[in-house]
Amino acid sequence: MTEFEPVIGLEIHVQLASQTKLFCACPNGVGENSKPNTSVCPVCMGHPGVLPVMTEGAVRLAVRAGLALNCAIQKHSTFSRKHYFYPDLPKGYQITQYDEPINGAGFIEITYGPKDNLQKKKIGIHHAHLEEDAAKSSHESTYSLVDYNRAGSPLLEIVSLPDLRSPDEAYAYLTEIKRLMRWVGASNCDMEKGELRVDVNISLRPKGQEKFGTRAEIKNLNSFKGVREALIYEIARQTKILNEGGTVKQETRLWDKEELVTKPMRSKEDALDYRYFPEPDLPPLVLKESWLDEVKAQMPELPASKEARFMAAGLSAYDAGVLTSSREISDYFEAVTQSGKVTLKTASNWIQTDLLGLLHAEKKEIEDSPIPADRLAQLLEMVESGKITRKQGREVFEEIWKTGESPAAVVEKRGMVQVSDEAQLEEWAKAAIAANPKAVADYQKGNKAAIGALIGGVMKLSKGKANPKVMGKIFTQLLG
Ligand SMILES: [Zn+2]
Repeated sequence: MTEFEPVIGLEIHVQLASQTKLFCACPNGVGENSKPNTSVCPVCMGHPGVLPVMTEGAVRLAVRAGLALNCAIQKHSTFSRKHYFYPDLPKGYQITQYDEPINGAGFIEITYGPKDNLQKKKIGIHHAHLEEDAAKSSHESTYSLVDYNRAGSPLLEIVSLPDLRSPDEAYAYLTEIKRLMRWVGASNCDMEKGELRVDVNISLRPKGQEKFGTRAEIKNLNSFKGVREALIYEIARQTKILNEGGTVKQETRLWDKEELVTKPMRSKEDALDYRYFPEPDLPPLVLKESWLDEVKAQMPELPASKEARFMAAGLSAYDAGVLTSSREISDYFEAVTQSGKVTLKTASNWIQTDLLGLLHAEKKEIEDSPIPADRLAQLLEMVESGKITRKQGREVFEEIWKTGESPAAVVEKRGMVQVSDEAQLEEWAKAAIAANPKAVADYQKGNKAAIGALIGGVMKLSKGKANPKVMGKIFTQLLG
């Protein structure tokens, strides 16, 4: 049997998080919570005689997105009309960028694979263009409803090159696009709110062959998980056809998330002719050098650069990836470590294991963390300097999470201190030895693990305040 290689390309629409819609002053992104058809005006409703006017905010976000995607920003771009007839499109055409998009070719780097063996791969971006969104229609049993709040909202369509070779790579690509778009504030990318929509192209070809096979397009994907599942299904479906000597039909298929299958929607033979032509109501979009310089100057440090810095400072690729999974997490991490009194590894461990775990469990973002970065820094400084034990640190963490108190206040209130005084520790050690002759005998017979019982004894006597490091040293001295 021939071995086939999948060739996958993604078209992603992200809704830009600008204040207004693309060509009018209507508030953008009013979302599901607003009453239908309240953020509308004659422009986005397509009334005759009105003219679109480009809004700056959306262009700025499109350029920020383009810079994050390493795209060649085009100082001159143009708009076209894409025609089709449907109730969600009041003008009868959609204003989009066709042959001269604002963002030219670019690339991103994706990371995928198991935690201890992460792979990196460069994925090409063909281009990313601006366009207006259509309205949202919902179909009831005998009638349909249309909400125009979304009509005219700015979208950026990011078109990848067919560089992806597996469902896992496609998943990693989506994750990276989302991270970058959120990082630069271009889009919130909330898929449930339709702020990120994705169409997938997939074909198979015999391994080693350069020529692409016939592709199918998959639509109706509403989660990253759905994209992965649909691709796995589609690879199996196309492999079976090819192995049986058949040919894959070029068609659009819909993902059925209940049955976990793709189903044909319409074939390309009767695909719509959109009759693209240049938009006469909008002049070319020309970006001034000075404006572009200003947008570039306002760009934050991008995640790849932060990740590289964290790794150069000693963190693993995995840890650096988690700590840059969002700009807010990376800022938090840097705020905790900026004093230089907390090591990166300690901060990384506490943030990943304790903080992110609890935030996740309570469905909170790090911006809403009950423990702000400076508080966690104070706590970790006390642990690192040996003022309190790691175990006490965990107790303080839980307390300040609940009460919002300062770590110092909790430590004082509970009388927490770590005892490192050798005379006091020796006294406890001798008492523990006297109370547990069996452990002593075991230890002296060569069972080094038996010391655990003795240290446990000291912890009991000291109410958890003994410094375990110094304790170990004292026991070695006392028992030889
Ligand atoms: Zn409007």
